[in-house]
Amino acid sequence: MNEEKFEKLKENFRLRNVEVEYFESLEDVKLYILDLIPMECSIGIGHSTTLQMMNITNLLLERGNAVYDKELGKDPEERKNLKRKALTTEWYISGSNAVSVDGRIVNVDHSGNSVASITFGPDKVIIVVGKNKVVDTVDNAIKRVKNIACPLNAKRAGFNPPCVTLNRCVDCVSKERVCNTLSIIEGQSDRNRIKLFIVNEECGF
Ligand code: SF4
Repeated sequence: MNEEKFEKLKENFRLRNVEVEYFESLEDVKLYILDLIPMECSIGIGHSTTLQMMNITNLLLERGNAVYDKELGKDPEERKNLKRKALTTEWYISGSNAVSVDGRIVNVDHSGNSVASITFGPDKVIIVVGKNKVVDTVDNAIKRVKNIACPLNAKRAGFNPPCVTLNRCVDCVSKERVCNTLSIIEGQSDRNRIKLFIVNEECGF
């Protein structure tokens, strides 16, 4: 992303009370997050390929933070409880399906836990996004989410809605539909709540 585009994005998010920072690499983001979040804080983790690439759950656990990541659950009931606990943590870390230069964060969710936590609950939210997910407008963000992120995420998770074979959304009502909630974060009432970290690398879908 060129500097002019990043500055425009940053200013549009600033007007919507979302703080934006730029990082050259996921490694840089990882070190920054480990420094930013106090050791005694509880942290919820939204399921995300980007966060898995950072191995952030294990790093936070190893140094003693209480971490609620559904991936740590051994069975569906345990995973459900971890999702519930992540709704009321002090910090929440998530990826995103798309962000737009005009200042929106757009996500779809299968069960809804991640978009719920991003919207309300945790005191502070960090969203880590690779440059491949930055688009110009909210309309293009929704198109990206439905036609790129959904098919790839569905395939990764072992679901088979029509977009997996068609590589585009047909607004299905499949039992395997993965985008049961579409969320657009348009702004924040608390200026210090959401931090958006843009990474100059391709991360996730
Ligand atoms: S509505 Fe169906 S086809 Fe469209 S993105 Fe969602 S799961 Fe895929």
